[in-house]
Amino acid sequence: MADGGAPLENEIRRLIAVAGPLPLSDYMRLCLTHPRYGYYINRDPLGAGGDFTTSPEISQMFGELIGLWMAAVWQRMGAPENVRVVELGPGRGTLMDDALRAAKVVKPFRAAIVVHLVEISPALREVQRRRLEPLDVPIEWHAAFEEVPGGPAILIANEFIDALPVRQAIKQTDGWHERVVGIGPDDNLVIGMAPDPLPFFETSMPRGLRKSPQGSIYEWRNDTIALELGRRMRDDGAALIIDYGHAHAGLGETLQAVAGHAFTDPLRTPGEADLTAHVDFEALGQSAESIGARIHGPIRQRDLFLRLGIEERAAALKANAPREKAADIEIAFSRLIAEGAHGMGELFKAMAIAAPELGVLPGFEP
Ligand code: SAH
Repeated sequence: MADGGAPLENEIRRLIAVAGPLPLSDYMRLCLTHPRYGYYINRDPLGAGGDFTTSPEISQMFGELIGLWMAAVWQRMGAPENVRVVELGPGRGTLMDDALRAAKVVKPFRAAIVVHLVEISPALREVQRRRLEPLDVPIEWHAAFEEVPGGPAILIANEFIDALPVRQAIKQTDGWHERVVGIGPDDNLVIGMAPDPLPFFETSMPRGLRKSPQGSIYEWRNDTIALELGRRMRDDGAALIIDYGHAHAGLGETLQAVAGHAFTDPLRTPGEADLTAHVDFEALGQSAESIGARIHGPIRQRDLFLRLGIEERAAALKANAPREKAADIEIAFSRLIAEGAHGMGELFKAMAIAAPELGVLPGFEP
């Protein structure tokens, strides 16, 4: 029963008792970012001793090539004297550390940078501060992207959007019903559906999915961040979004929970597992485009990094490394560009959202 369980689960049960079942998105938000018990709030979930590993943690090459991409984009922007280098969800700060080191080759770019980190986790902010402080670059932290001051910006987000809450609806004879988290007959948390269909829902869905068979599930995210990215980049900037997801909107649910490098049930141990869902790049791109930004891609992570020169970078690093280290570099290189349904190079996609005047961006050439 509820008593004696984990504090976040107790709180979720209380909320359900008072207000009824919670939309899945509210459940996901509480699990990840509840100000006291949220998954990201108190811990560093990354790396071998944590729950999952990300591309920048696999190899320095990832951040370095993004740093060079940023320098090239800055030149394309007309080399503004002040530029905000923004990262959404910087994790351990590894990507930014590697990017800024690589960016040193373009001295006036390095000198123009103020770093803006959008991070909700006090624990990870502390890890980032320790990592980046020695670099001698001004850094500001923000709780949300909307707080980053206006002006020329180059933005990177790796595995950030997948952590933003998703909503889900299931098709019934009378329409699409929102999926909610409630209490089941055995007193455990279960996924059910709201009694009434969502009003006028089909008009907001991609045309091709509206007439789906009963039982179909459609998943979506609120478009606030996509519109804000579109608006900011359209005016003066470029954003590189890398995440796992699909290039075209589809049916089906992708919500998943990971703890200790293994999949678990998203309803078990709320706040103790990482919850993510695939990024719908079509929806993201359409929202950002609707407000005037130009969209590049999505392309596979593999293709972006091969075009940015990861093969040459791996060769250079190997040439200067002892033998065991060279083998590790080769393994990391292969992992980042691996093809196939489970390969990071294929599962992960890259999309840029940019001011139309910037033309075709590096790495996204046809
Ligand atoms: N980009 C890093 C970390 C990915 S994990 C890497 O590739 O290694 C997701 C990151 O986003 C973490 O830093 C997490 O604390 C942060 N985050 C998750 N939800 C957030 C939110 N709603 N607002 C701000 N930061 C958030």
